Amino acid sequence: MPLAALKNVFGYDRFRPGQHDIIQAILDGAHVLAVMPTGAGKSMCFQIPALVLGGLTIVVSPLVALMEDQVAALKLAGVEAETINSSRSRDSNVAAWRRVASGQTRLLYLAPERLMTARMIAALQRLPVRLIAIDEAHCLSRWGPSFRPEYESLTRLGELFLGVPIAALTATADAATQRDIVDKLFAGAGKVFVSGFDRPNIHLAVDARTERNRQLLDIVRAHPGESGIVYCLSRDKTEKTARLLCENGYRALPYHAGMDAAERTHHQKIFMDAPGVIIVATIAFGMGIDKPDVRFVAHTDMPGSVEAYYQEIGRAGRDGEAATAHMIYGLDDVRMRRMFIEQENTADDHKQREHKRLDALIGYCETPGCRRQTLLAYFGETTAPCGNCDMCLNPPELHDASDSARIALGAVEQSGQIYGAAHIIDIVRGAKTQKITSAGHHALAAYGAGAETPKERWRSILRQMTGAGFLRLDVAGYGGLAITSKGRDLMAGTEIFQCRVERHGITAQNRKTNG
Ligand code: ADP
Ligand code: ZN
Repeated sequence: MPLAALKNVFGYDRFRPGQHDIIQAILDGAHVLAVMPTGAGKSMCFQIPALVLGGLTIVVSPLVALMEDQVAALKLAGVEAETINSSRSRDSNVAAWRRVASGQTRLLYLAPERLMTARMIAALQRLPVRLIAIDEAHCLSRWGPSFRPEYESLTRLGELFLGVPIAALTATADAATQRDIVDKLFAGAGKVFVSGFDRPNIHLAVDARTERNRQLLDIVRAHPGESGIVYCLSRDKTEKTARLLCENGYRALPYHAGMDAAERTHHQKIFMDAPGVIIVATIAFGMGIDKPDVRFVAHTDMPGSVEAYYQEIGRAGRDGEAATAHMIYGLDDVRMRRMFIEQENTADDHKQREHKRLDALIGYCETPGCRRQTLLAYFGETTAPCGNCDMCLNPPELHDASDSARIALGAVEQSGQIYGAAHIIDIVRGAKTQKITSAGHHALAAYGAGAETPKERWRSILRQMTGAGFLRLDVAGYGGLAITSKGRDLMAGTEIFQCRVERHGITAQNRKTNG
């Protein structure tokens, strides 16, 4: 029945991943939360049940433009759909309501504030409502970045329409947001489906930053004559990086919000039309870019969140052919990001959540396991090790570095948990700097305790300890390292620290060439 509707009404031959299971669960009467990336086909997941179930399906959507688009598309497909919203005249809204009340309408699109008025609820309760679909359901969670107060009242729908299945849909909800939605909307009793996030043709790799320019050139060299996007943190860096690439024989163009609009459009057009162009951009670039043959996306700095990273690398390999997403990052980036969060004019609990979201991205960078598993796990999707990331292709050598870690933790503790990685390394290596002398740190027990380990190695150890949650780059804006409770356990000997041996520049050569 659902497949017949897909074919006859929408003209598609088969379901996309996830769609069938979600539709079946709704038809079985379950509350459902569906998490699928943009463009994966979420709408079909409630539109088909609406047709199969008959009666009326209420669709809640926050944006008038989205409602109008969907209603127009449904009408074109011959489906009776209506919207009542603030952009329409009173007459047109009244006429729409008449059609709904007469029973001919299958789907009615409403904004949350319009639906949740006492009058509208009472009127709808007299109609045969068979399904309630809530689009952009992440707006319900205070945990996510786009909370909308008018969504909060939707939590009453369960009791107002007893026995009517609710389908909540969103493209972005990490595990915590998902739990939040399920608790609020379904009182905990709903099925969660996460699908469509995997982009198996994109090879994933992360390297610690050592020599940024050389590392970037290595990445670009692996893609001769191919289109790519390089993301940088600042406008200034995009200009410099584009120049660097041009000097090395590539056709590279900067793109950022500080350029005048005409030049920006011009650069974008060249990138879209000419082969083998590299665009060097800030996050300003990419909205609505749909170029199928982007072969690589490189980040020379850590992006702001896992969601942002996923969006940005999603611009690679849309044609399904092999592509690469390669990030270069260092602890400096983490400090910078923490500072951005602290400088935002927001409440403390919001900042705390942002820091947690950043922790998830650091976890991705520092994982000793499959990157894709880590990335998908963030969205709640589980998979086997992918075989197409740097970690799968080159499993890291792990060794117990608990002793070194304890030396570092000792230095952090003895110096008062306010100093950054560079100074901690100076302490453990027994360096004679002005800062050491004036703070009296040559007298600490940890001073010189790790002198035989090279600086670069210490940097890697501290970064991995941060990624694994033994240390925390503190948030006061100074980038001081502090000891976490897990770090305390390590000091007490009830935890061990498995450290990767750092490798550089291997991943580009091991890139899989057949998707
Ligand atoms: P989302 O809401 O997840 O961003 P949409 O529901 O707007 O995505 O769907 C994106 C596009 O995919 C639409 O053009 C839709 O018609 C199309 N689509 C959805 N399901 C299928 C399918 N099973 N087969 C082919 N195309 C589909
Ligand atoms: Zn993998």
